[in-house]
Amino acid sequence: MHFLPEAIDDYIVEHSAKEPELLAKLNRETNQKVLQPRMLSGHYQGRVLSLLSKMKSPKSILEIGTYTGYSALCLAEGLVEDGLLHTIDINEELVDFQKKYFEASVYKEQIKQYLGDALEIIPTIGEKFDLVFIDADKPNYPAYYEMIIGKMNKGGVILSDNVLWSGKVIETLNEEDESTKMLLKYNELLANDERLETVILPIRDGLTLSRVK
Ligand code: SAH
Ligand code: CA
Repeated sequence: MHFLPEAIDDYIVEHSAKEPELLAKLNRETNQKVLQPRMLSGHYQGRVLSLLSKMKSPKSILEIGTYTGYSALCLAEGLVEDGLLHTIDINEELVDFQKKYFEASVYKEQIKQYLGDALEIIPTIGEKFDLVFIDADKPNYPAYYEMIIGKMNKGGVILSDNVLWSGKVIETLNEEDESTKMLLKYNELLANDERLETVILPIRDGLTLSRVK
């Protein structure tokens, strides 16, 4: 969901970095062939992820929720030369699609794909991270956070997507809505965790930027 008026949104996109060609192709093919293409980060948020990653110059990135690989390729743009991005997704139908685009990119040697439940895979990655992008199933955000906080390098950055959940975080809560319930918990958790400095950016569906002290 976009919170800004459409005309302002368009103006922002027109005056922001252009979408690289390979990503525009990935974006189109996702829209043509894959279910729920709205999940893809897209041109504007993708450029935000790219710039944040370039400012951090991470050696090690973890992405939870690859989908068709769009955000992975954006984040990889900031990796140092021998850096590595680990990206996890539970949906095996996406693996070939992701691989095709990773292989076509200049980052093919720097992206490691994992297929499976992130809750099981994260503990097997014996590395510390400079940048983490949390963007998988919303009910598990608090669990992902607990798993990665001990694996962050000092000054590391955690980005969490969809934290405003189309504005549902300020509406009356439906007790059966597990995603909203857990996002509310998650947003509290990050805002009050003294190990972090956190700001929610009103980008697209809400993107939290947290820095580990
Ligand atoms: N980061 C992508 C979009 C991710 S969409 C982009 O910005 O373009 C969310 C993804 O999380 C989906 O592909 C879904 O299959 C995956 N996912 C859901 N539950 C998961 C889990 N338990 N472990 C790993 N991936 C999961
Ligand atoms: Ca997302």
